[in-house]
Amino acid sequence: MLTLQGKSVFTGIAIGPLALFHRNTISTAPRAIDDAEAEVQRFQKARTEAVLQLQKLYEKAVEKIGEEQAAVFEVHQMMLDDDDYIESIEGKIRETMLNAEAAVEQTAQQFADMFRAMDDAYMQARAADVLDISRRIEQQLCGGPSIDFSKYDHVIIAADDLAPSETLQLDTDKILGFVTSSGSTNSHTAILARTLGIAAVVNTGTQIHNDVDGMMAIIDGTTGTVYIDPDQETLCQMTERQQQLKKQQEKLETVRGVATETKDGKKIRLYANIGNPDNLPQAILNDAEGIGLFRSEFLYLENTAYPTEEQQFEAYKTTAETMAGKTVVIRTLDIGADKKVDYFGLDAEANPALGMRAIRICLTRPSLFKTQLRALLRASAYGKIAIMFPMIISVDEIRQCKSLLQNVRLELDNQGIAYDKQMEIGIMIETPAAAIMSDELAKEVDFFSIGSNDLTQYTLAIDRQQTTLDAFFDSHHPAVLRLIQQTIENGHKAGIWVGICGELGADLTLTETFLKMGIDEISVSPSSILPLRQKIRSISLL
Ligand code: PEP
Ligand code: MG
Repeated sequence: MLTLQGKSVFTGIAIGPLALFHRNTISTAPRAIDDAEAEVQRFQKARTEAVLQLQKLYEKAVEKIGEEQAAVFEVHQMMLDDDDYIESIEGKIRETMLNAEAAVEQTAQQFADMFRAMDDAYMQARAADVLDISRRIEQQLCGGPSIDFSKYDHVIIAADDLAPSETLQLDTDKILGFVTSSGSTNSHTAILARTLGIAAVVNTGTQIHNDVDGMMAIIDGTTGTVYIDPDQETLCQMTERQQQLKKQQEKLETVRGVATETKDGKKIRLYANIGNPDNLPQAILNDAEGIGLFRSEFLYLENTAYPTEEQQFEAYKTTAETMAGKTVVIRTLDIGADKKVDYFGLDAEANPALGMRAIRICLTRPSLFKTQLRALLRASAYGKIAIMFPMIISVDEIRQCKSLLQNVRLELDNQGIAYDKQMEIGIMIETPAAAIMSDELAKEVDFFSIGSNDLTQYTLAIDRQQTTLDAFFDSHHPAVLRLIQQTIENGHKAGIWVGICGELGADLTLTETFLKMGIDEISVSPSSILPLRQKIRSISLL
């Protein structure tokens, strides 16, 4: 038995086989080949595999989000069967003795350019699809997916670390938990684990070797311990502990469907944080009263090209409709820092967390921002959407955002497209500048949502990803709590509501403090909703 000690991200217990996550870097560099027919066969095998993958994805998506939304995977299958597309690739292999990866990539770029040059917006949007399907074939050609899920029913994923975009590609239905040798409990990957409610331990410090692939393992999310190839005694203890946790979970059922209010009747809005519409089942399953933070950048992270207005519109509309009139706060794009996307072509920076990030990208690339604002406004006609701007530091930035939003509204008015004219506009308070200036900022918006993850990082000057600084990191630091209190007071003075959507909102040891400060809304990972409601109902503010 091998025992590893790391940091717990989610307190569940997972027992199952370990599957090692390996990165297959996709290389599409041109290379001369000497057997064209063998190369065509390689291409065809990869293409068939990609079609099968899409068939599975389609079936899963139909189950989860319905036939209409799943149709994209069917369209992708059809594109992979397109004669012109296949002929172009095979032609390049045969006529120029080019390797399959390069032939696929060159064809993808040619077809994408051709789509982009078309007049029709629908056809232009197909450029992203052809790049997407080609990426799928290239992945197959370069060694297949990072984990072959067909080998397992359910697995514990082991990796050195997982980037947010890598986590998103995993087949979440089959994941029991994950263990990483590095990574912080405050990273976006950790946030995703909490959203999915799966046991996770990060930063074990020990590289996990290939020879444990397929071995039985246990993650104890309560202590942050991982047991690989456990002995019988540990296995029995942990199975028993798993049963106990299940019972505790059952107890939480008593607070399902009841009001989130203190003993003395103060009501709090208890919302869920999500990354994309795929997380909606978790939010609903855990009885969320709304969505307090939709991290829209995940739509960008999952894609290999900018998501189109239509793609975004569909995602926001699905969310608004699924939540059926309950509030859905959608945060505009927060790319940058640890959330990197190649196709944005961002310059390398010495301090990315202090660099070109979030609203700064949107305000320097207004056409990109306007695409998102159009999608958001159009979707607002289908439910109760509120819009939220991240990483704000000044009144001027809010005014610039509102001015762009107003331009988009006028554009939609001219085109006769409906949107919610009462849509609330808010900002994240996640920089010390915003918290300190919250009296001024409050006059510009309808609500504040406190992003305690970044607020802590920037107030304490401690990188939220940097685990070696843990000894200096105090998540209850009085400076952060004072800024939170000041933000709530200033918000209330201006008559607006104030919520918290950072991870601190789920810290049950602070719930009473936040309630006493007067917090109006708390938005947390879906798995934290019921424990938090139970806690709020046990508190009296009198
Ligand atoms: C935060 O900073 O607290 C927040 C909610 O935003 P994110 O974690 O996505 O940066
Ligand atoms: Mg943040």
